[in-house]
This record gives sequence, C-alpha cells and structure tokens, in this order.
Amino acid sequence: MITAKGNTVQPGIAIGTIRMYHKTDLQILPDKTKDTSAEWKKYLQGKKEAAAQLKKMEKLAVQKAGREESMIFGAHQMILSDPHFEEIVKEKIKEEHFNAAYAVYLAGEAMAGDLAAIEEDPYMKDRAVDFRDVSMRVIRRIRHVKEEMEISSKPVILLADDLTPSETIGLHTDKILSFVTVGGSTDSHTAILARSFGIPTLVNTEMELSDDLNGKTAIVDALNGTIMIDPTEEQLQKMTAQKASYEKQQEELKDFAGRETTTKSGRTIRLSANVGSLTGVRKALANGAEGIGLFRSEFLYLNRPVAPTEEEQFTVYKTAVTLMKDKDVIIRTLDIGADKKVDYLQTSEEENPAMGLRAIRLGLDRPEAFMVQLRALYRASAFGKMGIMFPMITSTEEVDRIFHLMDTVKKELVAEGREIGEPKVGIMIETPAAAVISDQLAKQVDFFSIGTNDLTQFTLAMDRKNPELSGFRNEHHTAVLRLIEMTVQSAKEARIPVGICGELAADPSLTEYFINLGIDELSVSTPGLLSLRKRICSLE
Ligand code: PEP
Ligand code: MG
Repeated sequence: MITAKGNTVQPGIAIGTIRMYHKTDLQILPDKTKDTSAEWKKYLQGKKEAAAQLKKMEKLAVQKAGREESMIFGAHQMILSDPHFEEIVKEKIKEEHFNAAYAVYLAGEAMAGDLAAIEEDPYMKDRAVDFRDVSMRVIRRIRHVKEEMEISSKPVILLADDLTPSETIGLHTDKILSFVTVGGSTDSHTAILARSFGIPTLVNTEMELSDDLNGKTAIVDALNGTIMIDPTEEQLQKMTAQKASYEKQQEELKDFAGRETTTKSGRTIRLSANVGSLTGVRKALANGAEGIGLFRSEFLYLNRPVAPTEEEQFTVYKTAVTLMKDKDVIIRTLDIGADKKVDYLQTSEEENPAMGLRAIRLGLDRPEAFMVQLRALYRASAFGKMGIMFPMITSTEEVDRIFHLMDTVKKELVAEGREIGEPKVGIMIETPAAAVISDQLAKQVDFFSIGTNDLTQFTLAMDRKNPELSGFRNEHHTAVLRLIEMTVQSAKEARIPVGICGELAADPSLTEYFINLGIDELSVSTPGLLSLRKRICSLE
C-alpha cells in the first residue's frame, strides 16, 4: 500500500479506480491553406478513423456497461454521417480555405450553436455537447492525438501531474470521483474550478506518478488530505463507513437551503455563489445561493480558437440573469492572462504574466474586443438584476477609461434601437493599490468586491500557483486583513455595498470577523454555500 499527503481543495471521500491523465496540447488555429484537396483528404481520413473508433467503443461499451450505455456511441456515429455537418466542413475547406481541423471545429460549433440557442431544453443541450465531442474526436484523428478517457463506463479517480484551468473544464466531470494532482496550490484557478465541481480534490500531493498506477484501487480522503493506493480490506471497510457518515452530514446541511442567512441577533448577509458557466448558475440556485457574487466570464473564452461572439455572450448572460430572477448577478469582465491564456488574443510571452497584460489591462488595451463583451452585458442587463464588475483595478484613471468605453457602447446600442438595462457598476479590490486608494475608488462606483486570492498574492508577493510557498503563505496575514478593513471602511463612508469573493470568504474562522467588520456579501463556491450559511446562522 502507498500513502501520500496532499492539500485539500475540496473535502470529501472517494473510493475507486485510478486513471492517469495525460496532456493533449491541442491548438486549433484558423490557418488558411492553398492545398484544399489535401485538407479535404485529411478530413475524410480523420472521419473514417473516428467512425472505426466509435464502432469499437460501442462494442466495448455493450460488453462492459450494457446496451443502454453503449447507445451514445451509436448516436455519435450518426452525427459523424450527418450530411449538413459534412457540407459545412466542405465549405470551410473548399471555399474559405481553412485547414481541416479548423473546418471541423467550425462545423461542430455551427451545429452545436444552433442547438444551444434552445439551451433551456436539456435534450438539445446534450445534443450540442455531442456535436462538440464528435468534432473534437475527428480533430484528434486528423492530428493523430492519443485518446484520453476513452471509455470510462465507470467513474474514476483522476491522477495528474498538474492541470490547467482549460484542461479542468474540458474534463467529463460526471466520470470523475476525485482529482489528485502532484502540482497545484489551493488558491489556483484550477483548484477553484475543482472546488466548484464539488469533487473531493487534493493538490500538491507528494507522490511519484507512473502509468503502473492505472487501474489500481485508491481511497482519496480529502477530509484529512491523504490518498491511499492499494488499501487493505480493513481500510476499505473503515473508509466506506466514514464516507457514508460524511455524506449523511452533507445531506443534513440541505435543511439550510431555503433559509435566510441571518445571525441570531438579526444581521443579514447576502450569501452568493462564485460560478464560471450557466451550469454553475443552475447549481448555485439549486443549492440556495442568494445571488451570483462572481461570474468568472473568462471561462467562456477558454478552450476555443476564437472569442465568443456578442450573440453567444448575450445568450449566456441573459440566461444567467433570467434564471436568477430578482437576485443579483455580478458578472466580471474577462480576466484573461496569467494562468488563463488564449491563443487567439495573441498576447506576447511575458516573464511575469500574473503582473502583466491581463484582466482590465487587456480590456483597455484591446477596446474593440472588450466592447463586444460590454455590448453583450448591457443588452442582457435589460432582463434582470445585473452588476458588471471589473478585475485588477489599480487606479481611478482606469475606472474613468472604463466609463468612457461604457458610455460609447451605451450610445451605440441606443442609436441601434436596442433594449438595454441599468446595470450596477463595480470593481474588484484585489491589488494592494486599489485597497489603499479605496476611498477614491468608492466615489466612482456602485459596489466593491474584495478578491482575496490576488490581494494576498500581491500583498505578500507570493505566487498563488506555487505549491512550494505553502509553508510561507499566511492566509490571515495582518497586512491582508488591514487592507480588507481599509476597503470596508471606504465602502461604508461612501455608502456602497462591499463583498468578498476570494476564497477567504469561505474560511469559517474569519466569518465572525467579516460580519463584525460590516461585510454585506460573502460569495463562495457552490459546494461551500450551505455549511457557511449554517455557520452564520449559529453566530450571535
Ligand atoms: C480573487 O483574486 O480573489 C478573485 C476572486 O479572482 P480570481 O480568483 O478569479 O483571480
Ligand atoms: Mg483575481
């Protein structure tokens, strides 16, 4: 038996079979070609191989999992032979001269996009996912990329060296019992994503990875930060019982789903959720969120070769505010850069990307692209209670420049006769500079939200992604707490609401302190909502 220690990102216990994750660095760029017949041939060959693969998988699935589970592979074969899909590929190659992989990508997106417009229908939504799956399979064949998670009829414990945020959102999380990575730190974006899935997760785990671990039984005890590989029968029994008791406790928390978040003396806090997608919004709502305190819109921009269009973003934001009805939805404009890179924005390599051309700096540097998002946000704000929030602010001048762009967008939309709403405008306080001048910033905006992840990283000058710093990082450092206090005081003086949306918001040892400071909102990942509500309700 092997036992290794790691840092818990999401508590829980998982028992199952190990699956090693290997990286597939698949970039699909819109390169054009002169030799269209060579690209067409590549497509036909890719399609042929994908069809053979699906046939094989269908057979395997019948043996391993049953006829019903195998049907998905039959459905995928039908998509592969859809004449309309092929027509789009042909047009993109023969007429627009795109390379085969990109043409297939565009065809998949076109088919999925038509279906996603009827996004509220779960059947159609699944079909959109199927189109994307099939097109990615063909692209992998065109590029000769090895298949990952080929046929997981049973959910697995996923072991990886490290995962990027894009890789994490690309995984089929319903097939994953637990994530365990050797790299990573608890405040990284990958960890934040894993936490939002509610799957027991360990990072910075002290173990050697090898393909020999594939298929072995493991217990991930993310309550105590350990993974046990090849456990004894006795340990299996003990941990199965502990798992059942933990799940029972979690079940009991559901009593708090419909309750108000109020202390015994009557102080009410808005308890909101941090999300990165519409699925996240739905989960948050189902788990009793009183709002969305942080919608990380940049996740819409990852894992794709081109930026989402205005219409696509409008549909997502409109659906988010519509789903949340009269509850506030704070959408943060894209925070691309640092660990969340996209090729199509063609930013240069930076030595210190976390302190580079990222977040609002990128928005102000590329106003055309940024204004597409602002247009989508303004239009969607007509359908619900929206707050637009800007990341990584360091000066009042930046806020002035943002208002100027917002004004231009607003005028444009009105001139076009578009319906727009009146969203609240807020900023993240996540740089020491913003906290120090929060008195000036508070006069410019409608609300503040404190991003303690970056605020801690920049105040302590400690990379939030670096696991080797875990022994140095003090989450409760007086310098960070003083900056939080300054920010809250500035917000109170200007009579604007202030929330916390960084990971510290979920720290139960600080809940009483935050409430006494006068924090108006705590926004945490969905799996942490109910235990935090229970904690707040138990306070005087
Ligand atoms: C933060 O920095 O605290 C924050 C909430 O933003 P992100 O984690 O996305 O950087
Ligand atoms: Mg941040």
